[in-house]
Amino acid sequence: MVTDKREQAHIYESFGRHVSSGKAAFFRQAGIEFVPGRREGIYLWDVDGEKRLIDCHCNGGLYNLGHRNTAVLDRLRAALDELDIGNHHLVSKHRAALAERLANLAPGQLPYTVFGVSGGEAIDLAIKVARGYMGRPKIISAGGGYHGHTGLALAAGEEKFYAPFGPPAPGFVKVPFNDAAAMGEAVDGETAAVLLETVPATYGMLVPDDDYLHRVRKLCDWHGALLIVDEVQSGLGRTGRLWAVEHFGVEPDILVTGKGLSGGLYPITATCFRAELEMVFHPDPFIHVSTFGGSEIGCRVGLAVLEITAEPAFLAHVRQMSERFQAGFDRLKAKYPGLLVRLRRLGLMMGIEMVNEQCGPLLTRTAYEAGLLCVYAANDPRVAQFLPPLVVTEAEADEILERLDGALGGMERLIG
Ligand code: PMP
Repeated sequence: MVTDKREQAHIYESFGRHVSSGKAAFFRQAGIEFVPGRREGIYLWDVDGEKRLIDCHCNGGLYNLGHRNTAVLDRLRAALDELDIGNHHLVSKHRAALAERLANLAPGQLPYTVFGVSGGEAIDLAIKVARGYMGRPKIISAGGGYHGHTGLALAAGEEKFYAPFGPPAPGFVKVPFNDAAAMGEAVDGETAAVLLETVPATYGMLVPDDDYLHRVRKLCDWHGALLIVDEVQSGLGRTGRLWAVEHFGVEPDILVTGKGLSGGLYPITATCFRAELEMVFHPDPFIHVSTFGGSEIGCRVGLAVLEITAEPAFLAHVRQMSERFQAGFDRLKAKYPGLLVRLRRLGLMMGIEMVNEQCGPLLTRTAYEAGLLCVYAANDPRVAQFLPPLVVTEAEADEILERLDGALGGMERLIG
């Protein structure tokens, strides 16, 4: 391989001048000057082909199936030979096929799907449907959650993400996650919907109590409100079940999925909902339009992803690897009791909880040095998000644990 260190330096300079000066400076200062080049399976190499990382960030599940998964790539290539984005105004064979598949795999009765390009857009649509159907304004979400960078999704998230940009959309209320009593205080006859990540990722993979979602569901039913689950990160096998809500025996009225549905190759997201909610579009079925939403090429990719992830053997593999990481973590906790608190874990949706807020950023740095891409949780820096690809093998899991050991050792030396 031709190596040319100047390439990375040149990219940094150009990126800093034309894309984001802040990001370029941040990564320089953090000592993480990595520009992805080749990528394959669980690995990323820098553009100079010198440094290799194991991707334990996976962009929140985008790379559930690893980078450039060959089965998905084959389906994408075949779709490119035949299709294009399609025209969202028209009836589509490919959107129908993917929506039908999602309906068959949904946790409960969610026969309708509207497709989008981003998770934020899909959450916006979920909120539009809920408000349109209910004729009520209020949306309740959880503090520390993250639902996207677009209008309504943004308003459902943390204030720091919208405060600099003028007045937020009205009608949003936040309560602490995993606090059924607080939810009980908030849900009322004005509530259109409660919107929750099943396992809040940006908040550090906090796995809710066994009965929390069930209690929220009952509160919604009592007040006639809808339950929207954001499974953009927790869905598609990440937790060892196809949908994380399945662990809790709860059926949502609306489910949002994204990220991994794209196979990391072609953007597509989905908002799936109950039959009666489709009424919202009866007066004007063209009232919600998205030029790139539900691209026909993306639909083919989504079908390929579902074929792989819905397989019982695939989900069993996720659960097995999850146990392996727990066992490895227990050994590391015995070795680094001054750093590690616990492994937050539902399947391979994992967060490494550490003793204080300095730990997340520090581990991000030392993990990088040890060859792991592993990023701390923006809304709880005590926690390092730990999301290896779901296709990780036993040997690769052991390599990750070995590197994590090195990263924790590096942290100990830095702290002194
Ligand atoms: N919901 C959750 C739980 C997410 O983690 C994200 C993205 N990190 C989104 C929604 C928004 O998705 P997107 O970035 O594709 O708009």
